[in-house]
Amino acid sequence: MRHPSTGTGSYQLDDFDRQIVESTRILLQQLVRSGRAQPAQLVSIAKALHAFERLPRPSAVQTVSITVTGPTRRHGDIETYFYWEIALNEGAIEVGSGGYYDAPPAGGDSFTIFHWSAAPGRNHAAYLDYTSQLSMVPDLVDYHEAVARIDFQQPGYSVEVHDPDNVLLDERDNDTGEESLTVGDADGAAPNDDDGMPAAWDVIATGEAEIALLNEIALFEVDRYEAQFADGMDDCGECGCALADRGIAIDGRLRDSFMWGNFCAACYARVGSGIGVGHGQVYARQPNGDWRQIAGFSEPDEFS
Ligand SMILES: [Zn+2]
Repeated sequence: MRHPSTGTGSYQLDDFDRQIVESTRILLQQLVRSGRAQPAQLVSIAKALHAFERLPRPSAVQTVSITVTGPTRRHGDIETYFYWEIALNEGAIEVGSGGYYDAPPAGGDSFTIFHWSAAPGRNHAAYLDYTSQLSMVPDLVDYHEAVARIDFQQPGYSVEVHDPDNVLLDERDNDTGEESLTVGDADGAAPNDDDGMPAAWDVIATGEAEIALLNEIALFEVDRYEAQFADGMDDCGECGCALADRGIAIDGRLRDSFMWGNFCAACYARVGSGIGVGHGQVYARQPNGDWRQIAGFSEPDEFS
């Protein structure tokens, strides 16, 4: 049931990627020095910092995710806050940002600003930028500027750390909240973007077959559709691998057959009938374990 390694080579990073890496390194260093993180959290934050300082060389860091949430700010009637998420998952490295926007009387919603990911052996990193859809957010700045503006000495910052290998996190007092509950999870609980703002979601690809599939998907279109989630994504119907170890899974139809099943990306590329209504729906595993649809959507009801 072990899935193959995501690759043992170096990360392929261009100048743009190196700037993301450098700003993330600065963010993690500031967090270490800030006194905002508890000692048990520092263990995991140091692992992530180690991994970022080794880039483009791989590191042995397994699974760590860190979410920093900034203070809520007012701009007239509008309230916003931003968060930054750094995640490592068996070689895949992900940096993302999002936020929350509240403008009465319409109400509030979460949004994604950008998502960047890289993995060893991939020939390039993936970058998705939603900035052009966020003109209603008054204080939106790019990642580098956002990191430069973070001041942990100001009130209102919080830090969440998830690291299954760090048992010290379980020894923290529970009255500070759940360690494993990231802002991303909270966003996932509110996928109704009735005011048209994209709800936060993640894609963490593991392996070449998933990258190849993602390259065929118009991820910028995902937010046109209401969030749908899949249940029962257990094993691949073809090779039997545990889909919980994958970043992508397909609920799809076998080529030239009426048989449907759940498949890993590598098997579906070989035996599947493609992506789309009547063929296959693609799901991305979220940090909280939910499977969120990212392709193969039905067009919304015309008369809804
Ligand atoms: Zn498979």
